[in-house]
Order: sequence, then C-alpha cells, then structure tokens
Amino acid sequence: MPETITSAANAAVKTLRSLATKKGRKEAGLLLAEGERLMREAAELGRWPQLAAVSEAALGRPSVRDFVRAAENAGTRVLILSPRLLEQITRRDNAQSVIGAYRPRLAELTELTGDLLVALHEVRDPGNLGTILRTCDAVGASGVVLTGECCDPFSVEAVRASMGSIFAIPLVQTQFQALDAWRKRAGCSVIGTSLRAAQRHDEPDVSGRVILLMGNEQSGLPPDIEAACDHLVRIPMRGRADSLNLAVSTSVMLYDVWRRRGFAKPNHA
Ligand code: SAM
Repeated sequence: MPETITSAANAAVKTLRSLATKKGRKEAGLLLAEGERLMREAAELGRWPQLAAVSEAALGRPSVRDFVRAAENAGTRVLILSPRLLEQITRRDNAQSVIGAYRPRLAELTELTGDLLVALHEVRDPGNLGTILRTCDAVGASGVVLTGECCDPFSVEAVRASMGSIFAIPLVQTQFQALDAWRKRAGCSVIGTSLRAAQRHDEPDVSGRVILLMGNEQSGLPPDIEAACDHLVRIPMRGRADSLNLAVSTSVMLYDVWRRRGFAKPNHA
C-alpha cells in the first residue's frame, strides 16, 4: 500500500529531492524520471523504480492505480505526496503527478550490437544529450557512446529531454581511445562530423557498421580525434549561421544514414 507522507523532512522525500544534483544522484545511486507515460514505457522495458511518488489526485486515475499496483508487485516503494512536495522534488511548477527514482544503467562497449551507433565527444548540454538519445531511439540506432568529459546523462534535464529513451538506448561511458580500439575489432567505421571537413555528409559508404561521431558544442572534435576517423564530413550550410546545434546535426546525420539504407528496419542482430 502506498504511504502518505506530508513532511519534507522525511528521509525518502529527502532522497528524491537530492536527485536534482549530481552529488545526490551519485550518493543515492538513483536517477529521477517524471511522468506516468514515460514510467509506463520504462516498465514495458522491464525497468521499475526503486522509489516512486504520486499525488492523491493521480491515484484517482485507474491507469495510475494499475501502475502503482504493478510497481509495488515489482518491489517499488510508493509514496503519496502533496503537489507542493512534488514541485519541490522536481523543482518545477505544475510538477508531474507521478515520479520515480530508478537505478541508472551503463553498458559496456562489448554489449553494443547493431549497425548504427552514435558517439558524442565531450557533450556538455544535458538537453542535447537527452534529445540525441530520443532521436537514436526513433531511428533504431543501437547505442550511444559518451567519450571524454561529458555532462551527466542521468541528470533530470537529460532524462526529461530523452522522453524515456534513456531506458531504451544502451549508453556507454568511456574514453575515445577505448572506443577506437573496440570499433576496429568490431568492424565499425567512424564517420566524424566537423565544420572543417571537405567531404559532404552523405558521401561515405554507410552499408556496414557505422559510428557517427559528434563533437563538443563549443570546440567540436579535437584534431587527434578527427585524424582517427575513417571519414570526416560536413553538413552543407548556406545561410549565415556558422554551425548547427549538436542535437540537430546528429538528427540530420542519423536520418540521412537511415534514408540511404532505404528506411530499412533496424538491425539489432
Ligand atoms: N565551434 C565548433 C567547431 O568549430 O567545431 C562548433 C561545434 S558545433 C556547434 C557542435 C558539433 O555539431 C560539431 O562538433 C559537429 O559534430 C556538429 N555539427 C554542427 N554543425 C555541423 C555541420 N554543418 N557539419 C558537420 N557537423 C556539424
């Protein structure tokens, strides 16, 4: 049975509040996800929160009651909180009325399968990272590799922007050298993206296993990493903007590879 909690000083409420910071997430070993739909989709992937909180009003909805019952059966502790406490936890006005704290998961390079992967070198903006996870999910890409010093993929902003795709897309955190060594063994070609590239983005052969490598929002890819790519490509631009947003350029790249593969069903084999 869900427990009603009214005090912000309650230990479980304090844990949920701590998930807004990287330190809090690290100490608790949890990330915060918001919204009934997103949490249902996570459950479809077999992911249940350790701790969940709902408002009294949300519990009036049959779909939420069913979800809470299933979550409790899966071992989730469920709290009933006031909208005010939910707002304090999510640091948002009009907070979602269902939230959950999940164990984050990282994958190893050797677990990555499929013929389309994205690597992000030193991505700093959690909104970009979450948006890229969502696009990867949409096109059936089979993983995202974070190299170098990246923002926290489990921050509230990244999870929010991913719209649940954080639970669907295998995520690896490593250094570029480790990715480069693995991809040679795994037979992946690396298509790096750069404003300094001479080749157009739709020119390289994408029939085999491909890793699309994207650079940092401010500085792009460092020269040694550009040099390690099999191809370096540039998305044409003709207006005054000197570059595209990272998440937008990743979408252009992903959709172009998929288009050139005839919008075929993803190969996760
Ligand atoms: N000042 C940076 C530079 O000189 O590389 C710009 C970085 S850009 C905002 C961030 C990343 O988005 C780039 O590293 C690249 O991966 C991708 N990107 C943005 N516009 C692009 C374009 N027109 N062609 C290829 N990649 C692009």
